[in-house]
Amino acid sequence: MKWILALDEGTSSARAALYDVEGGRRAMAAQEFPSRYPQPGWVEQDPEEIWQAQLRATRDTLAQGGVTAKDIAAIGITNQRETLVVWDRKTGEPVFPAIVWQCRRTSELCAQLNASNDRAWIEERTGLVIDPYFSGTKLRWLLDTVPDAQRRAEAGELLFGNIDTWLISKLTGGRVHVTDETNASRTMLMNLASGEWDDDLLRVLNVPRAMLPRIAKSSEVVGVTDGDLLGAEIPIAGIAGDQQAALTGQACFKPGMGKNTYGTGCFCLLHTGGKPVRSKNRLISTRAAALLGEKEFAIEGSVFIAGAAVQWLRDSLKLIPDAPSSQAIAESVPDSAGVYFVPAFVGLGAPHWDSEARGVISGLTRGATAAHIVRATLEAIAFQSRELVDAQQADAGTPITEMRVDGGAAQNDFLMQFQADILGCKIVRPADTETTALGAAYLAGLAVNYWESTDQIAGFWKAERIFEPRIGDAERERRFAGWQDAVARAKART
Ligand code: ADP
Repeated sequence: MKWILALDEGTSSARAALYDVEGGRRAMAAQEFPSRYPQPGWVEQDPEEIWQAQLRATRDTLAQGGVTAKDIAAIGITNQRETLVVWDRKTGEPVFPAIVWQCRRTSELCAQLNASNDRAWIEERTGLVIDPYFSGTKLRWLLDTVPDAQRRAEAGELLFGNIDTWLISKLTGGRVHVTDETNASRTMLMNLASGEWDDDLLRVLNVPRAMLPRIAKSSEVVGVTDGDLLGAEIPIAGIAGDQQAALTGQACFKPGMGKNTYGTGCFCLLHTGGKPVRSKNRLISTRAAALLGEKEFAIEGSVFIAGAAVQWLRDSLKLIPDAPSSQAIAESVPDSAGVYFVPAFVGLGAPHWDSEARGVISGLTRGATAAHIVRATLEAIAFQSRELVDAQQADAGTPITEMRVDGGAAQNDFLMQFQADILGCKIVRPADTETTALGAAYLAGLAVNYWESTDQIAGFWKAERIFEPRIGDAERERRFAGWQDAVARAKART
């Protein structure tokens, strides 16, 4: 009996999971690791701690499942995206901490690029907006900051990678230097359409080609693990950034299918088929894992603060004892009594991209209670997601008829019902909401013929609950207009 092993390396923990031939999860273990904040807005992690956490979670999962490495048909890897590591080719030692996707240390460089003549073609070629979020400017910063790094990188002594590349290097004893199309599309160094590193982008950021990994397909065998590590050599056969892996895990294989993940933030991806759709509404164009065609694309919108606003209610305002109790408290009042909460703690992401916006609670009257604020917080998650979906629909030119959901806050039934109401479309929650790890497993399993087709995998997908809209158009638009008014108050005054 063979299994597929997924390694799911997230921002705060590394997880591993074991899947059977029906896509059922047999075991899962997680290992947390810390982030560090050396300056306001800066976020770093220790690449060695990430690797050790991943290795422990992997060994725990094998032990929990009672299987050995010989029982594993292939490994799939999914990872926090954009976070980068630079290490010494010979020793494998990182030359600097991992700079995490959330880190804003390159705001100034991004502001310069945004003000320059290069902005339009960079955005056109990468599908991205110029923002510290993506790896490219972070890599420039590192090469400027670590002594001798630029020269060493040009001489081929240093290697660059996102977390997928770093983990694969560790898993293969430094023998394989590879990334995949989805992770590469988040670096701001790849030509989105061709799927190759782009000389003009490398020139603008002065990044030496010698340090870049090969870009593989998301579903292909890229190497085997070092036999000593887990007890046998295992093919590494799938790689995708976490949100693209979730799109695969939700079996969104065709244009028009999309998913929204409700975690710390929200990430909404819509599959757009074999050609990149350029967003006219400030969303990002990105690679989806190519399983049906040579190349596949998605448009993506992200909300920075979603479930994190629920954590703020819990930890800072102490209005709720834990995240799940937000549901009953929100349901204890019939509506938010005109209260809106825009949780723009770190500015607003798509489609606003206003890094100077700050949070606002509006519409307060003497009758407002803690329950109204809790309700407004959950509603804010749905309103922000609606802004992403509206932008996606405008870009794609087709109405969205249903949305598949996952992530921690997707367990909140009030939030899911309100989301259906405010979008005016069906919200479908699957039985397995660990879609990121599942997607990585699918990519690996397809590459080694453990599964034969995406149709077979699509057959594994099961809905656990469907939420239908319960309010009419007029009511929906009235509430959304109230939200837009609150957003206008949160935006930076110019
Ligand atoms: P991430 O992968 O970003 O760490 P998760 O998918 O694990 O996030 O989801 C955790 C987030 O979801 C937290 O921010 C938490 O506040 C929120 N959350 C978890 N459960 C609920 C719930 N039942 N209702 C509302 N928010 C929730």
